[in-house]
This record gives sequence, structure tokens and C-alpha cells, in this order.
Amino acid sequence: MSIITNRKLVIYPEKCTACMLCVLACSYHHSKKFDRKNSNIEVNVFKKEREINILFNKMKNEERQACDYCEGEKEPLCVKYCIPKAINFSGESLE
Ligand code: SF4
Ligand code: SF4
Repeated sequence: MSIITNRKLVIYPEKCTACMLCVLACSYHHSKKFDRKNSNIEVNVFKKEREINILFNKMKNEERQACDYCEGEKEPLCVKYCIPKAINFSGESLE
């Protein structure tokens, strides 16, 4: 099952291995540091339900950055570093 998070990123949670590379890559984009707190992606693993949730923050707030689709990068870093392709770049605009 795919989830379209915004105009450009399509998520397949069932492919996610919870490696957290996207979280760290996103942090690096925003802050040039590898720190989960600087990422706008949150990956939650619910072992009991055997489920993984991937959340993308779209509005900047006191706790989290907002996704800017990796402005200034050649491609979205979360897509680039997601080895199992759980995050994909649609290249489409829904507007
Ligand atoms: S596109 Fe860039 S800013 Fe948006 S979630 Fe992915 S890594 Fe973070
Ligand atoms: S990089 Fe991909 S596989 Fe790893 S946590 Fe993020 S979405 Fe899941």
C-alpha cells in the first residue's frame, strides 16, 4: 500500500526496515549534522503490532523542521539513501 505524503514523495511502509538512514539524511540536509532531532522524518516501530509508521513533518514547529523537498540538493536525500525504496520520488505535481 502506498501513501502519498506530499506532492513529491510516495511511501511504501511495508518495505521499510527501520534502518533510520532517511532520518539521518534528512537531519544532514537541514543541519549538516546526524541528529534525529534535526530531521523532519520520524520512523516509529510498533513491535507488538509489527507495524512501522513513517511520518513527515510538513510545518516547521518548535520541535521539528519542515520538509522542503531537499531544496538545494540534487535529489531528496531520504529517497537517495533508502536502500529498499520505501521512499520514492514521484516527480509529479498534484496541483
Ligand atoms: S525530501 Fe529532504 S527535507 Fe524532505 S523529508 Fe526527505 S530528506 Fe527531509
Ligand atoms: S531509509 Fe527507508 S528503510 Fe530506512 S528507515 Fe527510512 S524509510 Fe525505512
